[in-house]
Amino acid sequence: MSVETAVYEKLSCGSTICGVCPRKCVIKEGERGFCGVRENQDGKLMSLVYGKAVSSNIDPIEKKPLFHFAPGSRALSVATVGCNLRCDFCQNFRISQDWTEISGRDLSPDDLVEKANKRGCSGIAYTYTEPTIFLEYARDTMKRASPELYNIFVSNGYMTKEALDEVSDFLDGINVDLKGGEEFYRKHCGVPDMEPIYTILGELSDRDIHTEVTNLIIPGVNDTDDEIRKRVRWIKENMGSDTPVHFSRFHPDFKMLDSKPTPVETLERAMDIGKEEGLNYVYCGNVPGHRSESTYCPNCNSLLVKRVGFRVEEFNLKRGMKCHECDEDINIRGEKFIPEKLFKD
Ligand code: SF4
Repeated sequence: MSVETAVYEKLSCGSTICGVCPRKCVIKEGERGFCGVRENQDGKLMSLVYGKAVSSNIDPIEKKPLFHFAPGSRALSVATVGCNLRCDFCQNFRISQDWTEISGRDLSPDDLVEKANKRGCSGIAYTYTEPTIFLEYARDTMKRASPELYNIFVSNGYMTKEALDEVSDFLDGINVDLKGGEEFYRKHCGVPDMEPIYTILGELSDRDIHTEVTNLIIPGVNDTDDEIRKRVRWIKENMGSDTPVHFSRFHPDFKMLDSKPTPVETLERAMDIGKEEGLNYVYCGNVPGHRSESTYCPNCNSLLVKRVGFRVEEFNLKRGMKCHECDEDINIRGEKFIPEKLFKD
């Protein structure tokens, strides 16, 4: 099913300008934009992936990763084909970049909400590929899901403020993958200018939408102390010291099969830099069993959430999201979606 897209301009020549992501593709009649899923049909810009879920799995929210929103809950995780980036290291390249036709199961927004409820999920995650490119499908599902179910995005952050306007009233949380510096984005992601990503991170913070940041660290590519420090400083100064940051381990994939997996020591170094710069919550990602999978109180260092893999094994927060030892306020949101069995009182 194709539907008219949300944010675009019609030109007198019949072309359209898509306004959903900073590429602002100018699309002639009969053609598609860079992401491959928005097509100009007789002067109207249509989404080709509305209601076409190429993935719809149930995941723990920790897998997104979101560690500070509704820990212990499960999310129906949905994607369509397509992406607005071209990352050489994409782990979902078969559905994001290397696809030939719009495929997937017909699942309407109502179907997704019904499925989430039936399968005991607390929310819906728009993930795997970039939700910005299936904005209308996500938006309509979010409206139906909220407020009984939460809505979270796992995004590259390469979207416009106008796209964010479409969903921000229903968006409970987001993980933004901040991949590297300017040159890294140009060389490895096909992004000519990364500034719009910083703009969106600032917007999310201004709109008080719960945001976590993932930084994939690739050895020899974006792993110098200076680069990491620069990113971490930006996050602290612009989003605050309570922003959770996940330094994620790279595994060779897609066009970067010759690169080596990130040594755990590199991730630990990144975590140290994060702490030195004053971030309260830093994690290693893709290293199952690492101590940093758990959350500790930034004031008294007691264990708050013990995670093993993507499982929450211990939950030591009081209601109101306070440390059980020292009553420090902890930046964990989505309390109403936390499984009741985790609370001790
Ligand atoms: S969402 Fe797709 S069509 Fe729209 S500007 Fe971005 S890449 Fe182009």
